[in-house]
Amino acid sequence: MEFRDLKKQYQVLKERMDKAVIEVMTDCNFISGRQVKELEEKLASYVGVKHCITCGNGTDALSMMLMAWGIGEGDAVFVPDFTFFATGEVVSFEGATPVFVDVDSDTFNMDPVSLEKAILAVKAEGKLAPKVVIPVDLFGLPADYDRINEIACRYGMKVLEDAAQGFGGVYKGRRAGSLGDAATTSFFPAKPLGCYGDGGAIFTNDDQEAEYLRSIAVHGKGSFKYDNVRIGWNSRLDTIQAAILLVKFDAFIEYELEDVNKVASWYTEVLKDKVKTPVVPEGCYSSWAQYTIQVKNEEERTALQQKLKEQGIPTMVYYPKPMHEQTAYKDLNQYIECPVTKRLCRTVFSLPFDGYKQKNDIHSICNIVEV
Ligand SMILES: *Cc1c(COP(=O)(O)O)cnc(C)c1O
Repeated sequence: MEFRDLKKQYQVLKERMDKAVIEVMTDCNFISGRQVKELEEKLASYVGVKHCITCGNGTDALSMMLMAWGIGEGDAVFVPDFTFFATGEVVSFEGATPVFVDVDSDTFNMDPVSLEKAILAVKAEGKLAPKVVIPVDLFGLPADYDRINEIACRYGMKVLEDAAQGFGGVYKGRRAGSLGDAATTSFFPAKPLGCYGDGGAIFTNDDQEAEYLRSIAVHGKGSFKYDNVRIGWNSRLDTIQAAILLVKFDAFIEYELEDVNKVASWYTEVLKDKVKTPVVPEGCYSSWAQYTIQVKNEEERTALQQKLKEQGIPTMVYYPKPMHEQTAYKDLNQYIECPVTKRLCRTVFSLPFDGYKQKNDIHSICNIVEV
């Protein structure tokens, strides 16, 4: 069994996909072709924001947004302790300091109480200026934006939604990508909306920000490519990837998003009495980047993963290490304790998941999950 069956997805979409890719090759408009613009317009309208700026990957997207906000040395940026490394990495890359915040044990997302505690600790020390919060929509579920935005606003900070795993999710009637002051996503193949390589996008309602982002994505261009008005870099989405995403986006909104929710409900139905299953709070809708369960301890996890592996069922641990325990951050000041993250890193694991799995696949996996 595949952990995430991208082969099956391709088989289903093959005819449309092959045609779309060959069209780009026939036209030879590999960079900034019309498919890129078409995709940006479709995604912006779906998410419900004015501008979508595509770029090279989800990490660049985060970096460029921090650049647009002028974040750098002396600034504190609050990031969940339980996330993919990139969320914190971009902060350090811009010269600012990541401050790790604990998460909620039901939703895996940033805990607003821990966030405020971390902000107060930074202010009390007086060395860094609290500037940005980066909540992550982990495993497809939007974070608690009402409470996070309120706290950020009270301390004069901006909110950058990291929706790399969250595209397609909904929070109280608003789509992921529209829930902070700006948002980013990733089109890495295994994300909810993935392409066939690297890709990413930024979402913002601010015209000036959008213009700045489009400029730094292409060497700080001004009125045209060879008029360089600032220092930028090169981060663009290939036309081929945009063409692939246009096909995938149709499938995503036509049936995939519904199907992943159906598969998740099959899992939860059977597993809810055996292990701790993922919680989707009232008013939220997940795009299920992962289906992640919690067991009692690390020994139980290792044993279960082994049992599944023996039956040919792959599992993954997202994430085995808190951000603050990463070697790259060994010299970084940790402002608050993150006990929930520490426990989750020892007790979570993710089961094979995609919208193409059948009910009997899920049941045969669940039969092996006995604790
Ligand atoms: C994947 C991911 C990123 C980075 O996206 P890339 O496209 O791989 O650069 C950032 N944040 C989170 C939470 C992610 O899962």
